[in-house]
Amino acid sequence: SMASPALLMRVVASAYSVAEKAATIVRNVMSAGDLGIVEKTGANDLQTKADRLVQMSICASLARKFPKVTIIGEEELPTDEVAEELIEDGNCEEILNKTCPAQYAGIKEEELVIWVDPLDGTKEYTEGLLDHVTVLIGIAYGGKAIAGVINQPYYNYEAGASAVLGRTIWGVLGMGAFGFQLTEAPAGKHIIVTTRSHSSALVNDCISALNPDNVIRVGGAGNKIIQLIEGKASAYVFASPGCKKWDTCAPEAILHAVGGKITDIHGNSFQYNKEVKHMNSAGVLATLRNYDYYASRIPNTVKQSLVP
Ligand code: AMP
Ligand code: MG
Ligand code: MG
Repeated sequence: SMASPALLMRVVASAYSVAEKAATIVRNVMSAGDLGIVEKTGANDLQTKADRLVQMSICASLARKFPKVTIIGEEELPTDEVAEELIEDGNCEEILNKTCPAQYAGIKEEELVIWVDPLDGTKEYTEGLLDHVTVLIGIAYGGKAIAGVINQPYYNYEAGASAVLGRTIWGVLGMGAFGFQLTEAPAGKHIIVTTRSHSSALVNDCISALNPDNVIRVGGAGNKIIQLIEGKASAYVFASPGCKKWDTCAPEAILHAVGGKITDIHGNSFQYNKEVKHMNSAGVLATLRNYDYYASRIPNTVKQSLVP
């Protein structure tokens, strides 16, 4: 008989199904109409009923299957029993059937850390910019992001009722990334994608210094990485604290799986071991191609303002 799939592939296959369940919750909360908005640190740092239910669903579902894995979610929630209707037990068969990269084949549960952003782009979700929203499940080993799932619950929502709503993108380092069409941004153009709801003078000064041909302001770290891998933007530039480890882990794994690069604004790589500080204090710089072009043009004044 076939050997049982490697742990990493079983985790990714579960995370894929768990993220699809999460997308259903995100859509159901919106169509029910009561978002239950709570301000966390302020009006630009929100939590909705969808953030809460999705985190409960993802964390409880993965913890039940993989009890020794460390799971870190964005939201602080009471540790009540999670309702059975929120538990997802499925596995993506296509992922289970793929061969785990040899360097990850022997990973044990206690060596994995899963970073969960149940709803990335909450501000935009509350404002009806629905395709900015993603669900992020990032998988780290040895402090590195090695696999990730990004679900976009409202992909295609403006394409009409005949289009399939929502999609799931996933990737593993050494294997590649799937669920989208990898596309490079137009050659010779500098198209920057950045925040729309967390701008500052420093964020804007940094972008100006890069002489962009165009600046795309959209919500979500997951959404901005999608802009890079689908060729809509050539660099994601965010010269500010605010973005956290659960925002970057899944996007990093997928971007790195297709040969891109993400760092802080100084060029330092992110660490994802369970003890790490959550805040990406020194911002984000990410590209699919030509990382050095952008990294070499970040002004020193901007770097000096952002302490890692
Ligand atoms: P944005 O590009 O503004 O959508 O930010 C990407 C991710 O980082 C989202 O999860 C935001 O909630 C988070 N983020 C960025 N800046 C801040 C901030 N100043 N306060 C709280 N969260 C932030
Ligand atoms: Mg987020
Ligand atoms: Mg979130």
